[in-house]
Amino acid sequence: MRKAFGAFCKNMSTLAQGYRLAARSSPRYFFIAAASSLITAAQPLIVLFFSSAVINELAGSRDVQMIIRYASLAVGIHFLLLWGNAALQRIMKRDGWEISLLRLLATEAEQFMRMEFGHTEDSRVSESLASIDVNSRGTGLGLLNLFTKTPRFLESFCSLAIASILLRGLFRAGNHTPGNFAESPMAMLLVFIPLVLMIVLSFLFRAKEKKTLERMFAHNALLNNTAQYYNGYIHADMAAKDIRFYNQKNALMHIFTQSASIGSWMRFFRFEGRVSGVQAAMLALIGGGVYLVIGLRALSGLYLPGDIARYVGAVTAFAAALGSLASSAGELYINVPYLKPLLEYMAIPGADQDGLKMPSEENGAYVFEFIHVSFRYPGADVNALTDVHLQLNAGQRLALVGRNGSGKTTLIKLLCRLYEPTEGEIRLNGVNIKAYNLTQYQRIFSVVFQDFTLFPLKLSENIAASAAPDTKRAASDAVRAGFGGRLEAMPHGLDTYLGKAFEKTGETLSGGELQKIALARALYKDAPVMILDEPTAALDPIAEHEIYTSFDHTIGHKTAVFISHRLSSCRFCHRIAVFDEGKVAQYGTHASLLDEDGGLYRALWYAQAEHYTDGEGN
Ligand code: ADP
Repeated sequence: MRKAFGAFCKNMSTLAQGYRLAARSSPRYFFIAAASSLITAAQPLIVLFFSSAVINELAGSRDVQMIIRYASLAVGIHFLLLWGNAALQRIMKRDGWEISLLRLLATEAEQFMRMEFGHTEDSRVSESLASIDVNSRGTGLGLLNLFTKTPRFLESFCSLAIASILLRGLFRAGNHTPGNFAESPMAMLLVFIPLVLMIVLSFLFRAKEKKTLERMFAHNALLNNTAQYYNGYIHADMAAKDIRFYNQKNALMHIFTQSASIGSWMRFFRFEGRVSGVQAAMLALIGGGVYLVIGLRALSGLYLPGDIARYVGAVTAFAAALGSLASSAGELYINVPYLKPLLEYMAIPGADQDGLKMPSEENGAYVFEFIHVSFRYPGADVNALTDVHLQLNAGQRLALVGRNGSGKTTLIKLLCRLYEPTEGEIRLNGVNIKAYNLTQYQRIFSVVFQDFTLFPLKLSENIAASAAPDTKRAASDAVRAGFGGRLEAMPHGLDTYLGKAFEKTGETLSGGELQKIALARALYKDAPVMILDEPTAALDPIAEHEIYTSFDHTIGHKTAVFISHRLSSCRFCHRIAVFDEGKVAQYGTHASLLDEDGGLYRALWYAQAEHYTDGEGN
């Protein structure tokens, strides 16, 4: 019992958090919903109140003035309420489901961009997002459920309160005929016992419904996530070719037909139908009881004729409101588990924005030191980096080479503070980098990641990473990145859209061309430290040669780190660090490393040189 109470309290606190979040995304909605619910509930009952007053007047003193006053009050108030409610309903519609869904998407997106980078790669976060999406879009559960179900709950609550007021005097004990059961207040129990029974049954039905729903969702969650993933895949530009050439269509369609367990949904709806049927039957029963008891009490002369009409109407409204309150409270309650993924997701902390001010860059005089740095990805069994000791001086060009998976990209991610070392520390000018303000720190890097992304916007906007590009600079950086010739051939120049997603005249560029644009974007940022992860992987040999021969001019005196599989490009670097299984296996200049007999660099160099006809060795 105590455990159940604890669980109930926890659920109520989750519900309260859900309302706080919902109110944050649509601040007015719930106030307006409350006002509108009050009016909707009050309308019929106010009419009932005045009708009973008119009947009493007709049966009593028959004062025409009073009758006219009651009738005009009924009509006037009814009209005002109708008019007010129509206005409120309009605002509610505007703030309703669709807008809330958009606001929810914006809240989700903002949180994703705000959180620490590590969380964005965490599979639990993507699972949360997928289930938030399925809940909200697919079933209307989760946060959106609060928008759709709360008005009915509030309306039932208001009806209940107003009907209770109208029922004043119902329990009045009679003293005309002693021993007449109908006259005793106990007679009302005939009405209220079935009422209570109905509420208890409603809750029991809801509890069963909650369990069934949870079971179905647990079963469907994985299928839904899978369907969502593949839906994204099918619509991705890059997959269109693979789907056709590897005949993936049938397998993909199979996933969709599997993803909705229609049978269990049908069973669930049949169950819901039965619940509604039982509730309707109980309401009819209660209605019959009410008429019987009130009729008997009226016969005993306990009520005035108008009171009879009022009580009958109010008890019926009370019973209907109670049923509706129980079922809407139940609907809100079974929704609690679906609020959890969103609340947990929103609770992920944002990247820390405190920290030291960055030292000013005096001629790019930033010195980085890796001191016994080890790193293991969250959830991984082995280190991606182990005991790395490196120094990167201002103006130095450092190349990172090594086999796939040897830890080169990871080192860059640590340097850029996308992750924190598991052991050891990275220092900038003698201070642990994590002490600096993160935004200011990341501003000093221009990075071209291997998996860079460009938008289907104008070329100039992509290069400037801004909607207000400096077109002169954008053009000169495009030239520096080797894109000059292609730019000249474009009829719309820097105004050319990348791809045709938003603009018919957009151009579809090759992987190598896109890589040059990504490089131009890094140059445009003009940060003191350039980091290039395989910047020429998609370039043809001539373009690659051009980039490297103009490297001095392109990078200037900036500090630069770059990862390359083409060892010939490392000759432009002052130092080369050779990675092997997460460790720095060798460190030196191109010439010194080539001289190291049995060294990995030498092995890699000759393995690559074999592909060239002249077998050039240095
Ligand atoms: P490289 O750049 O040298 O090819 P990486 O630094 O990308 O290598 O990867 C080093 C190791 O870390 C690899 O074994 C890789 O599988 C693993 N790894 C890379 N990224 C992640 C990640 N986000 N989560 C878990 N493991 C990762």
